[in-house]
Amino acid sequence: MFGRAPKKSDNTRYYEILGVAKNASQDDLKKAYRKAAIKNHPDKGGDPEKFKELAQAYEVLSDPEKREIYDQYGEDALKEGMGGGGGHDPFDIFQSFFGGNPFGGGSSRGRRQRRGEDVIHPLKVSLEDLYNGTSKKLSLSRNVICQKCKGKGSKSGASMKCAGCQGSGMKVSIRQLGPSMIQQMQHPCNECKGTGETINEKDRCPQCKGEKVVQEKKVLQVVVEKGMQNGQKITFPGEADEAPDTVTGDIVFVLQQKDHPKFKRKGDDLFFEHTLSLTEALCGFQFVLTHLDNRQLLIKSNPGEVVKPDQFKAINDEGMPLYQRPFMRGKLYIHFTVDFPDSLTPDQCKAIEAVLPPRPASQLTDMELDECEETTLHDVNIEEEMRRKQAQAQEAYEEDEEARGGAQRVQCAQQ
Ligand SMILES: [Zn+2]
Ligand SMILES: [Zn+2]
Repeated sequence: MFGRAPKKSDNTRYYEILGVAKNASQDDLKKAYRKAAIKNHPDKGGDPEKFKELAQAYEVLSDPEKREIYDQYGEDALKEGMGGGGGHDPFDIFQSFFGGNPFGGGSSRGRRQRRGEDVIHPLKVSLEDLYNGTSKKLSLSRNVICQKCKGKGSKSGASMKCAGCQGSGMKVSIRQLGPSMIQQMQHPCNECKGTGETINEKDRCPQCKGEKVVQEKKVLQVVVEKGMQNGQKITFPGEADEAPDTVTGDIVFVLQQKDHPKFKRKGDDLFFEHTLSLTEALCGFQFVLTHLDNRQLLIKSNPGEVVKPDQFKAINDEGMPLYQRPFMRGKLYIHFTVDFPDSLTPDQCKAIEAVLPPRPASQLTDMELDECEETTLHDVNIEEEMRRKQAQAQEAYEEDEEARGGAQRVQCAQQ
């Protein structure tokens, strides 16, 4: 630039193209570009050359840094790379200005749509809910496109390229890892939240404050069908948060079955615990079982039948209804525990012995019995005992390992 007189005509052409004064404000520039770009868009039969010039002029003048270079040194300075970039696709500039195609319909140059994230909600249900089926109304709040600005975020529909990322939505940071090594990292621009555009403060949509979306309360009716499983998903397609230029994700409810105090479910079958007294186990029983739909089932033993401790019995077609075939059902298993008396009086023993099968006869004579050693039986909690023994064994094993490892280390050191 030294020694050369700057050519005066160089730094007014862009203003002339847009038809604004040299001291035009950003708003003036926007209005001018908006009007002229729509009028001259090739899709509307405008002159492509003129359209390109408009985009170029607007691109430079809407960027304070480039505008300053242009005002001082003219077009050539920008072409020499002082302002960087230059020569962007006029359609891209047009699109980023309008945030899409203002003529509606799919533009062949439309940006590829992102897919919004799915929103996952756990949904607690009782076993009764899964047995009978139910429907639950859930109120959720979600983002929807602002109706006032149609998701543009501005009153005028205009937006500017974000200065922080030059409209790319991404920022690159460089980190020095070593004398000749750098790491380049890309991350969404914090200034525009990755959208690549900003909205003039005065132009912000009053409804959404320029956020393009507003919160909306929505009530969803979740239908839990008979026989659904713990962990099963119920999906509401496209009901997640809306965002501009984004395919809305799904809301997904994941069923979480609460534990039931009486019934356990395994697949399509139900398990029910029942304790019998010794008399019931030996002489027969009958009891009423309240099912998950409040039906009263009468459960009884066959005449003369004896139920042993830990025995299972099953009732067909009283288990869970099958998903989407609710007229079919699994089994209902009943697991019996027998409650024995803790002790009996001599009279009780005599009476029972009279009716029960005789004891096995002792093969030993009194003399032989006298030769035997006396022992004492005492009560144990067998689970507790086994746990303790296992812990002891584990400890011994670890000590052993330690000793052997130690020896090995010594050996190594000697070599
Ligand atoms: Zn709005
Ligand atoms: Zn940005």
